[in-house]
Amino acid sequence: MRGFYKLIIPQKFVELSDGNDWEGIVCPKDSGHQRAGRRTTDLHIHCLSTRVADFSSTILSDIVVTNHALDVLTQVGLTGFEVKNPGICSKTRIKNQCEIPKLWEFLVTGKAGNAHPDSGIVVKWQCGACGLIRYTAFEHGLIVNETNYDGSDFFTVTEYPKYVLISERAKTIIEENGLTNAHFVESSKLQWPEGVIKP
Ligand SMILES: [Zn+2]
Repeated sequence: MRGFYKLIIPQKFVELSDGNDWEGIVCPKDSGHQRAGRRTTDLHIHCLSTRVADFSSTILSDIVVTNHALDVLTQVGLTGFEVKNPGICSKTRIKNQCEIPKLWEFLVTGKAGNAHPDSGIVVKWQCGACGLIRYTAFEHGLIVNETNYDGSDFFTVTEYPKYVLISERAKTIIEENGLTNAHFVESSKLQWPEGVIKP
């Protein structure tokens, strides 16, 4: 079986600023299902430091990369992402905006469908009225089901779309080029986060 890894971005360098908006999903049956859907605006961020690492993430798991990181990833032809220009808020605490490196919003587009059943994730319930689905926790890591996997270097599984998974090749490229603020855990060895109640 091929190796897959969860991309972990431990340190904070950017945060959401004013200017972001999300669609509101309202359930016709259950007001408790009301939630934010897709972002309807471009990503707007402010930088917490001029020394922004190659990989950053907002509290809502939007990923931001430096121009250097984008160069590295595209030059070797890694797949499963696209980039967009983020709005950088001028109300940032950093006085000299010129010091902020060129940044890109990094959108993961690769897909691996549902995780392998050995992960232990099952549908707990779903709402036919608004489409909300609650899955149980993964009990044995996030195991990629290779029959669903589109082969991208950056991808997600349906049940846990905020968990960015990467190929062995992507991990090697990131490590060999010394891209900063990216750590990896083998996806099949992922533990349910401590302190988070299982759904
Ligand atoms: Zn509903």
